[in-house]
Amino acid sequence: MSGVVIVGAGQAAAQAALSLRDGGYQAPVTLVGEESEQPYQRPPLSKAYMLGKADEAALRVRQPDLYAAQDIRVVTGERVEAIDRASRRVSLACGGELAYDHLILATGARNRALPVRGADLDGVFMLRTLEDARRLRARLTTARRAVVVGAGFIGLEFAAVAAKSGCAVEVIEAAERVMARAVSPFMSVFFAQAHRDMGVVFHFAEGVLAITGADGEAAEVHTTSGRRVAADLVVVGIGVIPNVELAEAAGLATGNGICTDADLLTSDPSISAIGDCASSPSPFADGPVRIESVQNATDQARAVARRLCGRPAPYGAVPWFWSDQGAHKLQIAGLGRPDDETLVLGDPSTGRFSVCRFHRGRLACVESVNRAADHMAMRKLLQSGGTPSMEVVATPGFDLKAFVAALPTAA
Ligand SMILES: Cc1cc2nc3c(=O)[nH]c(=O)nc-3n(C[C@H](O)[C@H](O)[C@H](O)COP(=O)(O)OP(=O)(O)OC[C@H]3O[C@@H](n4cnc5c(N)ncnc54)[C@H](O)[C@@H]3O)c2cc1C
Repeated sequence: MSGVVIVGAGQAAAQAALSLRDGGYQAPVTLVGEESEQPYQRPPLSKAYMLGKADEAALRVRQPDLYAAQDIRVVTGERVEAIDRASRRVSLACGGELAYDHLILATGARNRALPVRGADLDGVFMLRTLEDARRLRARLTTARRAVVVGAGFIGLEFAAVAAKSGCAVEVIEAAERVMARAVSPFMSVFFAQAHRDMGVVFHFAEGVLAITGADGEAAEVHTTSGRRVAADLVVVGIGVIPNVELAEAAGLATGNGICTDADLLTSDPSISAIGDCASSPSPFADGPVRIESVQNATDQARAVARRLCGRPAPYGAVPWFWSDQGAHKLQIAGLGRPDDETLVLGDPSTGRFSVCRFHRGRLACVESVNRAADHMAMRKLLQSGGTPSMEVVATPGFDLKAFVAALPTAA
């Protein structure tokens, strides 16, 4: 038997390999990753690692010797160049080939580049890989003025760390509010103020026209409104592009990600796709979604492993996410939609509250700040398949945790 080959050696790939062995899969399991690192977790790169509170060893998904102990072959620094679906083989950049019975694509995503003059100057960074984080962390030790392009999760997490490190931080954002694609307007307002309280300055509804410098070093960011923002460090966080090219070249269906069915199978039943690269149906969304989160990567990996171990079940894990920004832990359970109605639980002035988002009158998503009990309660509710109506949540004194505890299924 050729076994399972997994393309990518990130969070999803490592989980798939480990879950295959946990599930009793006996044939060979091989991970092929183009980065030179053993599988590691990316979330700390913009948080504890950037703050200097976690070292590289703490980032590992598992200690490297555990893969060998589980008879999992991890090939690092090697790129899969092509898939030959007819012969079920992948070819490697080194010239070698690997045969598979089943192929799992866990190719992740890459950062969207800033398409302007000066984006290649020294002092301009993106943050995706451990190597990016090493270089950025070193630069941060001497930087005085940081400009962050993009007020998404990664840009804001970095802004909080940079402000804490004593940098003057300005954020340039094309939208009217922070994290506009991911959180409710109420939450955007709260986090923008929280960052202002840390000293961060925002420029909304502005794009970047160019970055200029002296002696090859970034010195100024020029915005679409004619502003010139001084910077000795520029961090670009304007989203990611899923790595679909390998799948596309092999003739698999792709769109905003590698298209899968509810079993996470691609248009070839011998190939699955999981994690940041996969676009899949979800019972929590109106159509296929591509979710960039650790939860999604690991739960999809477990689901594919279960299927390959003979216990198939359609993928339907509850989506959840977190982001640490300064003293605030944001946790999101469920998926929001742009036209959601909202209600707030708790008092935002205490820094502990949740925004409840309603779709067609039912609770669909909860965004919590420093209120883990609400987050966990909402995950249980979504798992159980029934969530309260807006009327129920609007009842004075409503408590999400107590509501879940009182459900018959919670006993
Ligand atoms: C800085 C940062 C902070 C984050 N913080 C959070 C957070 O707080 N909470 C959260 O839930 N999520 C967070 N995320 C997102 C989370 O890390 C990702 O969703 C997760 O890593 C996705 O895992 P993956 O395995 O699908 O992709 P990846 O981790 O990107 O792994 C894919 C790997 O495949 C490799 N690859 C691609 N093509 C090939 C090929 N042809 N051959 C060989 N190898 C290939 C890539 O180089 C990469 O190493 C964060 C991400 C970043 C970058």
